[in-house]
Amino acid sequence: MNASPRAIHHLNCGTMCPHGARLLTGEGGLLASAKLVCHCLLIEGAEGLVLIDTGFGLDDVRRGRQLGVVFNALTRPQLLSDETAIVQLRALGFEPADVRHIVTTHLDLDHAGGLPDFPQAEVHLLGPELAAALHPSLRERMRYVAAHWAHGPRWVQHAPEGETWMGFESVRALPDSDDEILLVPLPGHTRGHTGVAIRQGDSWLLHCGDAYFHRGEVQTPAYCPPGVSVFGTLDQVDGAARRENRERLRELAERHGDQVELICSHDAHTLERYSERAAPTPLS
Ligand SMILES: [Zn+2]
Repeated sequence: MNASPRAIHHLNCGTMCPHGARLLTGEGGLLASAKLVCHCLLIEGAEGLVLIDTGFGLDDVRRGRQLGVVFNALTRPQLLSDETAIVQLRALGFEPADVRHIVTTHLDLDHAGGLPDFPQAEVHLLGPELAAALHPSLRERMRYVAAHWAHGPRWVQHAPEGETWMGFESVRALPDSDDEILLVPLPGHTRGHTGVAIRQGDSWLLHCGDAYFHRGEVQTPAYCPPGVSVFGTLDQVDGAARRENRERLRELAERHGDQVELICSHDAHTLERYSERAAPTPLS
């Protein structure tokens, strides 16, 4: 693959409206609905498209119940076909088959729902994440939806080992990406959770997935809305690893904010900043 990026499109591939805006976002009323997004990236490479995370897919829109009663009750997903990656990339003038590679930060149901819409794509992820999704423990069963990989994706597992990048270890580049797309392991939220760094000119964009949920968590001083703190703790498989990685991300933002831009999956405010720049981010 030659995926040297030319432009990055920032997409919201799923909106969730849980109750408790103030507790979850630090803004709005206690009982008001929060707005959480599924921040995905569509990267235009020289020989095709690379999708970073997929949000919800068309099957989720058609059969929302497959996401589970508990998830639906707690997060209140809107499940709109117009928000799926496949519909949005068609609107941008691309075809689903143009998506040659998908990189998933992890396989939680709100990140992997779009996989069936791109059955031809290679799906890159860390090996421990695939192992967790295919053989979940009792505690992990609710977070993964087997229907999202019933079509038999072309998995490409990567070992969490490699070089050092910006103080993060075990980093490896996606094969043939000219070192422009890196997997940066950030375990804790799930077993094989990874960040994805994309070179944009002289700097990097680091998609941190669910390594943190609110932009305040990686600001200095750090701020985490109380509802996010509770949710993050309930939803983690390794609390020590998650907290350590989040702290390293905060330090990265503090020390190297001019070289690395951090984004996470569910912070609507962060995504809005990119949506306001109507055009995709040019990279050269
Ligand atoms: Zn998530």
